[in-house]
Amino acid sequence: MSWQMKNRLIMSHEKHLNNLAQQIPNDVKIYQEMYSPQQALDKTIKSYSSPKTLLWIKTDQAKITTYSDNLSPEITTVENITDQPKIFNISNQYWLMCSLKISFDEKNLQTIYVAQNINDDQLLLNDLLKTLFLIIFLTNIAIIYATSTYICLALKPIDNITKTAKNISPDKLKEVSLKFNQAPTEVRKLALTIEELLLKIGESWDNQEQLLSNVSHELRTPLTIVSGYLQSLLRRGDNLTKTQKEALTIANSEAGRTVQLLQDLLELARADSGNIKLQMEIVKLSELLREIIPMAQQYSQRQITLSIEDQNINIKVDINRFKQIFLNLLDNAIKYSSDDTLIEIRVSKKEDIIIEIEDHGIGIPLAYQNRIFERFYRMDEARTRYDSGSGLGLAIVKTLVLAMNGNISLISQPQKGTIFTLKFPYE
Ligand code: ADP
Repeated sequence: MSWQMKNRLIMSHEKHLNNLAQQIPNDVKIYQEMYSPQQALDKTIKSYSSPKTLLWIKTDQAKITTYSDNLSPEITTVENITDQPKIFNISNQYWLMCSLKISFDEKNLQTIYVAQNINDDQLLLNDLLKTLFLIIFLTNIAIIYATSTYICLALKPIDNITKTAKNISPDKLKEVSLKFNQAPTEVRKLALTIEELLLKIGESWDNQEQLLSNVSHELRTPLTIVSGYLQSLLRRGDNLTKTQKEALTIANSEAGRTVQLLQDLLELARADSGNIKLQMEIVKLSELLREIIPMAQQYSQRQITLSIEDQNINIKVDINRFKQIFLNLLDNAIKYSSDDTLIEIRVSKKEDIIIEIEDHGIGIPLAYQNRIFERFYRMDEARTRYDSGSGLGLAIVKTLVLAMNGNISLISQPQKGTIFTLKFPYE
């Protein structure tokens, strides 16, 4: 733009210079009628001279023969003056300079140099350009500011959607409201679509939960009855053959396992719908653990040791759920380690209450460690000789620990053993 404006400035003066080129030869001719050729040239040059317009004639030997009165040496020594007008800055003044080839008679072709002072115009142009750049700069800043504000405003609802989505629990899916009246239309549409989607997922989640809960409930009762009959049959079946007894024992244990599985499924379904009812109370941890250990040893003679840093540590838990967690973990520890190995429970107190359960069994390879808390996840069956589990035990443990404001993690090394660490807030 600056280049374009400069060109316009040159063009506005170019016309004046062309007029000079046409008029000077005519004026010289008129003066020649009264004066000698040199005097006529002098008179003509002076008549067109002014403080802002300077003219001079230079011979091929660079000798200045005729010139305006105000001509200064700085101007005449400027090089590269061509027939195309160009702007030069001489002693802080802007001059538009060019050379004109003029013939005063048919033979002589003389070179007249013209310098037009355009300082005022150039300064005005410079000021204009400065103002223009300032306006462009400020406009750009205003546009950037307006655009970023608009983008922030437009993205804020999306940020809110993300925050809401992160905090939605399955049981609250249908209650989510993502209405953003201030948001742009597209974002409002997106929020509405997500809301409808969540409603549909919520409904199907409810249906699935209801189905699971109904099926588990309906199956559990008859299976418990079947299991009861099988047990009494086994107790009183003195006249049964060995094969019949074996068959009944297997049937009984499978029925028992299935009842347990249904019990677990119901438990998880309740947790998913936020219906786990906890009766939190403050109890002495050492006493609670001493009560649990014999329960775990009921079906195995495994040695379980307990070491507690402080016998008086209190913990706030739902006692029955806490027992359920420990029986599950101890049951696994017994199941996945050999009979001659020790199981250790250690309790320490730092910022939280830390309870570790360590076994020296088959361990869990790193690749499986993240996944064992998933529902129905069981490690490669070929690795283990244990097929009595359902893969729901640790999923329930984790759900219950989290519900009691705790958390669970593990460290394990194959063939060396596993340590499950539970942390509960200190009371
Ligand atoms: P399962 O009923 O199969 O024991 P869990 O959810 O309790 O289901 O455990 C999931 C899987 O984690 C188990 O199949 C087992 O492979 C592995 N696991 C759990 N506890 C231990 C342990 N103490 N030592 C080795 N592997 C374990």
